[in-house]
Order: sequence, then C-alpha cells, then structure tokens
Amino acid sequence: MKDQSYPKDVLKDIKAFFLEEQQTLEKRLEQINGADPFRDPDHTNGSDLGEDANEEVQHEQAVAHAETLQKKKKDIAAALMRIEKGTYGFCKNCNKMIDTDRLSSNPYTLYCISCAQKE
Ligand SMILES: [Zn+2]
Repeated sequence: MKDQSYPKDVLKDIKAFFLEEQQTLEKRLEQINGADPFRDPDHTNGSDLGEDANEEVQHEQAVAHAETLQKKKKDIAAALMRIEKGTYGFCKNCNKMIDTDRLSSNPYTLYCISCAQKE
C-alpha cells in the first residue's frame, strides 16, 4: 500500500493539461495530413518534375512531423493511464514521489530528480 499520494486536485489539473494537449495534437495531426500533397486525391504524377520534387520534400517533412506528434500522443496516453492507475508521479525506478515542481515543469517525466541525474 502506498503511504503517499498526490492530492486529487493536483492530479485533476495534470489530467486536464494532458487532455488538452491530446486535443491540440489531434488537430495538428489532421492539419499535417491535410497539408501532405501525397494524400491529396487529386494529386497527379509526372506533370512537372520540379513540382514533384518539392512535393516529395513536403511529404517527407509531413511524415517526420507526424511521427514526432504520434510519439508525443503515446506519451500522453501513457501518462493518462498512469493517472488512472494511481502510479502517476511516482518514480519508475525507485518508486518515490516525484517532486511536484519537477512534474509541473516536465509532466512527462517518469523519474525522480535523483534517478534522472544518475542516468
Ligand atoms: Zn527515483
């Protein structure tokens, strides 16, 4: 049994922050997918080589950006899961409570400051 836990209102704020981040990410992913010329159903091949090369670059940028956002989305989902399970805010390594100041500056962190420094 844990003898310490985060106050419910602190967790509520953190959860609200993650849910908002999740929504922002969803919107940005939609925008990126919409801006990717390779996803354009009217996209035609081979009409203009210069334009195709430009589209290739745009496509690669969109894919790279989307991958970064997808990774962040996973981190948020994992954090929300930890909040649900009641393990959020406890160091993954030593199980101690992570300092709330540290959490508020980096809500994604999994480790307490002393474990993070050992890394
Ligand atoms: Zn630790």
